Amino acid sequence: MTTKLYKNPTIHTLATDLGLKITTDPVSAIKDHCHRQIKRFLREFAHCSTLSGLLDLAAQKLGTTFREIHCDDDLTQLTREYADRGEPCAALFHSELTEDVFGVTFKLCRPGKFDLPYISLIDCRGNKVHKVYFTKWHELGHLLILTDQRRLSFKRTHALHELKSPEESMVDVIAGEFAYYAPMVLPYAKGGLTFTTIDSARAALCPEGSYQSALIGLVKVWPTSCVLVEARWAGKQSSHPGQYAASCALRAAHVLVNDAARESGLRLHRNFRVPESSVIHRVFAESLSEGTANENLDWWTSSDGTRLQDQELRVSAKRIGNTIYALLIPIPSRTTH
Ligand SMILES: [Zn+2]
Repeated sequence: MTTKLYKNPTIHTLATDLGLKITTDPVSAIKDHCHRQIKRFLREFAHCSTLSGLLDLAAQKLGTTFREIHCDDDLTQLTREYADRGEPCAALFHSELTEDVFGVTFKLCRPGKFDLPYISLIDCRGNKVHKVYFTKWHELGHLLILTDQRRLSFKRTHALHELKSPEESMVDVIAGEFAYYAPMVLPYAKGGLTFTTIDSARAALCPEGSYQSALIGLVKVWPTSCVLVEARWAGKQSSHPGQYAASCALRAAHVLVNDAARESGLRLHRNFRVPESSVIHRVFAESLSEGTANENLDWWTSSDGTRLQDQELRVSAKRIGNTIYALLIPIPSRTTH
């Protein structure tokens, strides 16, 4: 996504409007612009050391109050509260928070003496509840890239919320950058990466993020090599409709190769079949809750039969519902002296 995004003219314009030096990569320039703001907030509040704390601090500094909507009644009540305050945006609450929209930020016309200038409605109804933590960072992402001109005319972010608009994608990149902010994760990244270390980092840093988002976010910024695999029973996407069922197998539905692993040359692609000899397969087939084993990356083969590289791995697999998550950690090869 980022690769295409940096070529997008809207993103170029945004970088220019933010007064950033024009570079060939406006996405990085915008990310740096956001990093500078977050670092400034943290310099002021040096005691802030958790991701939850950072979220609250950034919301405060960027001037928004999160209001969570857990049921339709919450929305009705909030609408009444803001209508009573004479806020014209209250009339838009219902219509703006459509099915596709997870959150929306409004500028208040008549903030009270102690009110922040914005209000961010966070939809927590139904399945949206799993994305609440990310949605909050998404809304802050919009505020992190407000240009001076927009700050004056800003009424709501929904106008920017067209699905898959370049700006929405940019805001998602920003949200991903700070939801699991690397400098805060690093103190927890001591020793080997296991599901236990992930659990304790998540509990200490941001228990409100969903398990899946924590897993992805933490593995992504972990300083040591790791490949995260989300395995599910699925058919081959390219197969003809009649052959889909026959192609069903336990497959790597999602694969995340973190930076350290990528730099060391590790590769694994999505949709690969999970080797039947792997502990990932055993946890799935035997309905285990988790398992660990030493394996080799060359057990994995692509559909054309190409074997992956010879690399010893420590594989830990864990079942969450119908999904098996696995951490593939390279074991350094023993050198002979
Ligand atoms: Zn948005």
